[in-house]
Amino acid sequence: MLLEKEIGALQEGGVPIERLVQAAYPNAATGESVTQKYLGFLADEYKSDLTKMLFATSLCSDDINVSTDFRKVLSRPFSMGGLGGFPFSGFTGMVAFAHHIPDDGDAFIFYGPHIGITDSGELGRMIRPGQSKLSNSCGALMLALERMQQTEEVYVPHVVDYDYQQMLLENTLMPFKHEIVNAEDPKKEITEKAYFKIHKQINRLVRMSKQEFACNRIFLLGGIIINTSPGYHDYVDIRSFTVYNVSDLEAINPTSILNSKAFKEL
Ligand SMILES: [Zn+2]
Repeated sequence: MLLEKEIGALQEGGVPIERLVQAAYPNAATGESVTQKYLGFLADEYKSDLTKMLFATSLCSDDINVSTDFRKVLSRPFSMGGLGGFPFSGFTGMVAFAHHIPDDGDAFIFYGPHIGITDSGELGRMIRPGQSKLSNSCGALMLALERMQQTEEVYVPHVVDYDYQQMLLENTLMPFKHEIVNAEDPKKEITEKAYFKIHKQINRLVRMSKQEFACNRIFLLGGIIINTSPGYHDYVDIRSFTVYNVSDLEAINPTSILNSKAFKEL
């Protein structure tokens, strides 16, 4: 990983956005290449019929989250995500998704938070389409961070019906407040913690809904989306790829198969 001063030196010479993204997320790849890689993997290694696959996302409501091309290939995604990418549709949403899978098909869920990056490599902000000013991304996570960082009084989120997603998001992340605000880059750290919680919640919801899945397999792909300025590719830092065989879902240890031999030899 590049040091901060190295990033600074690179910027003066005009650094390609990929270098800046990979300075913060060394394993990030473009949404397009991630899509090709994983859909190819599903079709070739798992012999999955993509025309019978039901696709779901747990991504932030933010309009900027069009970064992967999965949705161009797999139509009619079931949208589980709310602010921050947390699966706000909950147990009910997961059960509904399970019931909608085509006969003899598979389930595929793509989940995770997102974070902007400026043309000079600053995380947590971005230029949006049609705008010239920088704005926060993810706005919900950056708002939560600002509230955690306030010093005049200790912030305590209270769930209210007119802003319950934001309040629940903040409640979920509050146990990590110390780690987040004291991190070298708190904006990056709150995004990491959001990923950690979303990953846990999706896995728990899948296990809770086991009896409702008529399909044999559930593919789970999790990562952090990195939003760049208009004109550049967006990137995804994949963190976990898990395949559940529904019949032995309880027994399965949901470890990522990223380290599996088949994956490495792609
Ligand atoms: Zn967002």
